[in-house]
Amino acid sequence: MNIVVCVKYVPDAQSERSFEPDHTTDRDAVDGLLSELDEYAVEAALALNEAGDGGEVTVVTMGPDDAVAAIKKSLQMGADKGVHVLDDAIAGSDAVASSLVLAEAIKKLGGETPVDLVITGLASTDGSMSVVPAMLAERLGLPQVTFASELTVEGGTARIRRDGDTASETVEATLPAVVSVTDQINEPRYPSFKGIMAAKKKPVETWGLADLGIDPAQVGLAAAWSTVDSVEARPPRSKGEVVTDEGEGGKALAEFLASRKFV
Ligand SMILES: Cc1cc2nc3c(=O)[nH]c(=O)nc-3n(C[C@H](O)[C@H](O)[C@H](O)COP(=O)(O)OP(=O)(O)OC[C@H]3O[C@@H](n4cnc5c(N)ncnc54)[C@H](O)[C@@H]3O)c2cc1C
Repeated sequence: MNIVVCVKYVPDAQSERSFEPDHTTDRDAVDGLLSELDEYAVEAALALNEAGDGGEVTVVTMGPDDAVAAIKKSLQMGADKGVHVLDDAIAGSDAVASSLVLAEAIKKLGGETPVDLVITGLASTDGSMSVVPAMLAERLGLPQVTFASELTVEGGTARIRRDGDTASETVEATLPAVVSVTDQINEPRYPSFKGIMAAKKKPVETWGLADLGIDPAQVGLAAAWSTVDSVEARPPRSKGEVVTDEGEGGKALAEFLASRKFV
């Protein structure tokens, strides 16, 4: 199968986040990496093709210069090629614009070789909107099956299991389709030395908005449908209350919980 995986380059969640005056994330202040949740999407694509009849796994990212690192990590894991959508006008894009750019990139790839499946993570670890997969499906006119904890493909049908709090459901969609996967679906592989060396020779194309036929006025901060009004650092955690048990500890604990409306 020809599978496209959308991989996002995000600030490392372990680092302290800071913001620019326009409330966008200060990406230069922190190291970035392939969004950890997207590693599950890459692994799912690789596993499907290894178990099936083969085919190509193409990873697509949209982001600044450094975002190519997300592609490289995916290629080291085993993906075949990458596309980096890079254009100054994209900075500050919201989910609506992100889905437009990614959808046009997928359409362009599909013009070269038909795409059987689009796989995404369940959410990025920075924006966490979890809406790009659905928006992609709408823009591409494809069925979407989201939050897959299990994914199999047989005879042109993608079958997924979605795990809810009280029930699991199995959902099917005919290919081509858009599937988003959760962190329950697999255990992403680490790039092997062989994989790291092989990745150096794999092709990565860079496309701008003009290559995708997108008007720059449709993307970027100015075109965003949603904006961040304010950003402030969370106050440090206040010191916890220590209850010394001198026979009345349970009562004191219950009163504390009741004062916070937990009981
Ligand atoms: C109100 C608002 C404010 C924002 N502010 C900022 C900001 O200040 N600075 C900033 O940098 N960003 C900001 N963003 C986030 C940025 O615009 C997101 O990239 C965009 O909204 C996509 O949403 P998400 O990352 O939460 O995607 P989700 O819907 O959570 O992502 C799901 C999946 O879609 C795919 N995907 C998403 N984005 C990409 C991508 N770029 N490339 C490849 N695959 C992708 C991945 O597979 C991912 O797992 C903001 C978004 C909103 C809505």
